[in-house]
Amino acid sequence: MAIVKANAYGHGKARMVKEASKEGLHWFGVARIEEAAEVRANAPDGRILVMGFTPPQDVATAVYENISLAVYDLETARMYSEKAVDAGGKAVVHIKYDTGMGRLGYNLKDYADFAKSIFDLPGLMVEGVFTHFACADEPSKETTHQQIQTFNQVLNALRNHGLCPAVIHASNSAAIVNYPQAGYTMVRSGMALYGLNMAHETWLPAGFGPVMTLKSRLTSIKTLPAGQGVSYGHSYFTPHEQRIGVVGVGYADGFRRILNASSILVHGKKVPVVGMVAMDQCMVALDDVPEAKIGEEVVIFGSQGDQKITVEELADVWGTIPYEVICGMSARLPRIYIE
Ligand SMILES: *Cc1c(COP(=O)(O)O)cnc(C)c1O
Repeated sequence: MAIVKANAYGHGKARMVKEASKEGLHWFGVARIEEAAEVRANAPDGRILVMGFTPPQDVATAVYENISLAVYDLETARMYSEKAVDAGGKAVVHIKYDTGMGRLGYNLKDYADFAKSIFDLPGLMVEGVFTHFACADEPSKETTHQQIQTFNQVLNALRNHGLCPAVIHASNSAAIVNYPQAGYTMVRSGMALYGLNMAHETWLPAGFGPVMTLKSRLTSIKTLPAGQGVSYGHSYFTPHEQRIGVVGVGYADGFRRILNASSILVHGKKVPVVGMVAMDQCMVALDDVPEAKIGEEVVIFGSQGDQKITVEELADVWGTIPYEVICGMSARLPRIYIE
């Protein structure tokens, strides 16, 4: 299953769905039903699973558009069933068990009884069963082994009662790398699909590389006198007469408003961002790149010449994880696809 929630992790959902379809993927995962329409438009025959909650007013859409929903408690399941019956059809569902994530999922021990109640609802058609791992990116922990064991108990309980859905899935990208024994009939991959490493302990095999590069341009260059304050709040003062470049990227694009905490590749070198990042632009010190010219391309993450700044590095600098960096790439950024 190609996970394409959050605008395909910032990559542009429509195009990513098309590319994944071309590669033969026909399952797509989203977090919310609002995200499903664009998937359906780009993969007319694809299967779509909404992994989160679907509100009552949207269940009919799921029925008409053949979108599968997640069920994880009886109240929600009954609501889906009623709304589907009202819509004159059935909602296709995947039953979710909480095997240790502590988030969505049924967490009591009467696994089969719960499944049976779901199978018995007149407006539902059970297609799958799944769970989600909390710590698959930390192979040194016991947690995932325990979750796999619990999920196997769930599956055995269902089998013993003749309730065995066709599609069984548990693994995210980190689990695909660290727990190949948890493949079941399908895996759900987001990060690996976009060529990004999941965590410090979990690296993608050789051959994977990041899909996205973030670029901008130098929109102005000028020499400021020593002691000139730069950007809002004057948190930076030029230490000497200094060439300062303006780059057309800011926090409204997803480039964090963090003081003096990032570098940008200009003319093949890493140069420091100076002063506060503004909404649409930020400033860089050009001491090391006298050749830099107005209008030239700069790289926020990706490579230029023999230098690179990875999303993983940027995440460390920003005190977050690579997921948040790419999901933060805002809607206004033009996405340019290179064949
Ligand atoms: C987002 C998500 C995934 C994908 O996770 P990656 O680490 O990006 O592979 C899988 N399953 C669920 C339930 C998710 O919410």
